[in-house]
Amino acid sequence: MKCLIFDFDGTIADTYNIVFEIISEIFHKRGVKIPKDRKKPRSMGAREKLKKYKIPRRGVILLTRVCRRHLKKKIRAVKTFPRLKSVLKKLKKKYRLGIVTSNSKDNVEIFLKNNGLNEVFDFIETGNPLFGKHRRLKKAIKKHGYKKFEVIYIGDETRDIKAAKKVGVKIVAVSWGYESRPCLNKGKPDYLITKPERLLKIV
Ligand SMILES: [Mg+2]
Repeated sequence: MKCLIFDFDGTIADTYNIVFEIISEIFHKRGVKIPKDRKKPRSMGAREKLKKYKIPRRGVILLTRVCRRHLKKKIRAVKTFPRLKSVLKKLKKKYRLGIVTSNSKDNVEIFLKNNGLNEVFDFIETGNPLFGKHRRLKKAIKKHGYKKFEVIYIGDETRDIKAAKKVGVKIVAVSWGYESRPCLNKGKPDYLITKPERLLKIV
């Protein structure tokens, strides 16, 4: 049976605006300038963003941790994307669904419950952002006993595309998250979709 593994932030949960506000606040306190136009960072991949805003590698871990903590206070306000819920419920009937994320299990579980998605996913794997996405993905596939060809990974960032390629699974990039369509296109995903319904056709 096929297994569909989803990234969380930007793929299932619409956290972009909230995370943008959290990061803006952190940066503001440190005197770092960030764009007023919140669409701007969507044109860059994670690596580009780090370079542009001069965030060192160790800063990523700290930033992720602070973000998670702040997000926890606001997680009840986070919604899923329009029509994605019904698509996920349809997919659930035929496939096993999982989540692999660097967000916290608490945040994911609260979100799923609030959005009526708590029965949809068979597993949630969280992990330290220090260890790359590909490792987390690989570990999850092994842990749940799948072969690479049985798995499709769905994510919203260039680093999701890279991770899937490194692991050797098919990748569907979605344009409703943290990165724009042209930006994702550069990463050459197997599929690039702009509407949740497209997922039903691809799998
Ligand atoms: Mg994401």
